[in-house]
Amino acid sequence: MDRFASEREEMVQRQLESRGISDKRVLDAMRKVPRHLFVSGTRQARAYWDGPLAIGHYQTISQPYIVALMCEALELTEESDCLEIGSGSGYAAAVLSELGRSVISVERIPELADLARTNLETAGYSDIEVICGDGTLGYSDKAPYDAIAVAAGAPMTPVALKAQLKPGGRLVIPVGQSQACQELLRIRRASDGSFRTENLGSVAFVPLVGEDGW
Ligand code: SAH
Repeated sequence: MDRFASEREEMVQRQLESRGISDKRVLDAMRKVPRHLFVSGTRQARAYWDGPLAIGHYQTISQPYIVALMCEALELTEESDCLEIGSGSGYAAAVLSELGRSVISVERIPELADLARTNLETAGYSDIEVICGDGTLGYSDKAPYDAIAVAAGAPMTPVALKAQLKPGGRLVIPVGQSQACQELLRIRRASDGSFRTENLGSVAFVPLVGEDGW
C-alpha cells in the first residue's frame, strides 16, 4: 500500500462506481495502478482528481473515468492481447496490462514514448512494449489483437486498426469531424468479418495525428 491508496479508493467510488462502471476487474485494476507515478512530481498531488492532467508536449493523461470506461468497453479477459494507440504517460497501458495478457502501446512523440517506458518501469510494468511510431497504421508485427484502445480523437476510424482486430475483437476509439469533440465508438468485428459499431457517448480527446488521422 502506498500513501495514495485511500485517494485511489475514493476515486474508484466517487468517479467510477457512481457513474456506472461495474466490471469488478476494471475497478480492481483502477484501485491498484499507482496513477501518481505517471504524472510529474509537482502534479502528483492532483493525480487522482476527476479530470485529465498535462504530461508535456501539449498532451494529457486521460481522466480516470475515461480510462475505466474504455477498459470496460473493451471486455478484456486474462487472455486478451491488447494494442493501445497513444501511450502518453503510460498509465492506461498499465491499467490494460492488469486486465489482459499482453499490451503493446504505440506513441508518435519520441519523448513521450520514453516517458511512458520510464514511468512503466518505475511502476513495475516491465512487460509492456512501447513502440514509437504512427499508431494510425496500428502495429502489424503483433497483429491481430483481441482489443485495441485509441487514446486520441480520429477524424475517421483508421482502416488498419479494424483490419488488425481478431474475429470477435473490439476497437474503442473516439471519432469526430472536429478536433474539439468526438463520439466514443466501440467497433466489434464479427466472425464473418463484418463490423458492428456502438456509440458510447461524447468525449474530448487530443487529436490522433498521422497518416490515417488528422
Ligand atoms: N493513454 C495515455 C493518454 C495519451 S493522450 C495515458 O494514459 O497517459 C494521447 C496520446 O496519443 C498523446 O501522447 C499523443 O502524442 C498520442 N498520439 C497522437 N496521435 C498518435 C498516433 N498517430 N500514433 C501514436 N500516438 C499518437
